[in-house]
Amino acid sequence: TSSVSARQTSSTHSRTTSSRPGMITGGRKRPSGSTAGGQIASTSGAGHNSVLEETKSKVSRLKNIDSKLAHMILNEVLVDGATVTWDDIAGLSFAKQALKEIVILPALRPELFTGLRAPAKGVLLFGPPGTGKTMLAKAVSQESKATFFSISASSLTSKFVGESEKLVRTLFAIAQELQPSVIFIDEVDSILTERSENEHEASRRLKTEFLLQFDGAGSNSDDRVLVMGATNRPQELDEAARRRFVKRIYIPLPESETRRGLLEKLLDGHAFHLSESEMQKLVNQTEGYSGSDLTALAKDAALGPLRSLGETLLDTPADQVRPIQYQDFVQALHTIRPSVSPQSLLAFEEWNREYGASI
Ligand code: ADP
Repeated sequence: TSSVSARQTSSTHSRTTSSRPGMITGGRKRPSGSTAGGQIASTSGAGHNSVLEETKSKVSRLKNIDSKLAHMILNEVLVDGATVTWDDIAGLSFAKQALKEIVILPALRPELFTGLRAPAKGVLLFGPPGTGKTMLAKAVSQESKATFFSISASSLTSKFVGESEKLVRTLFAIAQELQPSVIFIDEVDSILTERSENEHEASRRLKTEFLLQFDGAGSNSDDRVLVMGATNRPQELDEAARRRFVKRIYIPLPESETRRGLLEKLLDGHAFHLSESEMQKLVNQTEGYSGSDLTALAKDAALGPLRSLGETLLDTPADQVRPIQYQDFVQALHTIRPSVSPQSLLAFEEWNREYGASI
């Protein structure tokens, strides 16, 4: 039987080795920081600090904006150094392809995407939590060389209490100035929920302002400001919100092939020992697990070899810790359970059929 190095398997993100019989084993951890390095999203790499300075000076020349809020946005909302690449994200090839077409290519070749080809101004990523929506948004910023702003709707309403409308206005003004830009809003449903009787006046105003800015950002077809929303509760979006997110992409739970890829990726760089049939069993046993559930599972399993040392943990040399084994995963499967219920999956699928972008 052939022996397969986990590092080779996952570094190319290829699944070719996984169907071969034999033992899958792993080596030691590679040095940290060997993935893509940080950079301000709007740059192509060089002169990080000078670009940040230039950004700040551009923003400081903007009229009619609150300098305190602008400062806060540059420090807390502007993502300076997203370090996720497409290859870090297991599976989701449909979403990657759609995002490349909708966001990356227009950002890299704006002159080709005009008139009828003008890119969508709003993209929604929806699906269960922990499936890679935030990772996708980060990768988009990295790959599109757009200035990337990321904020969760809950921090908009909690951290910036009383100022959230103004913050939204300022954010869009800055994004416009620093275009091409991507504004990523996590948990977007909480700003854009269906109007209800007992909706607070403040949240109603925030929603109105957000929609106004959203429309403004799209009013000039040359503008390159894309709003990317993510939600675990797409059902809560009303028609006005749905209409603005022209492309709605379902980010589902990982399929078996993706779970295998993710497990291999997670184990990459660790000493582990799983036979092909054990890996296959594990892939089957983790049906219904999200990407973040699988991450939690692998973390728990990775502690198995240390737990088994008991008292001797303190004086066992690192290179004598046994590899992670299938049995560690079996233990971990008891404690780490899938976080997404089958009922909520059905609801996502139904919403996808009704409103999602088709393949
Ligand atoms: P979401 O935004 O959909 O709630 P995240 O993108 O924040 O989920 O993912 C949470 C964590 O789960 C990530 O940091 C990563 O560790 C893991 N994860 C989820 N999906 C994937 C995936 N497709 N590929 C790699 N890691 C993933």
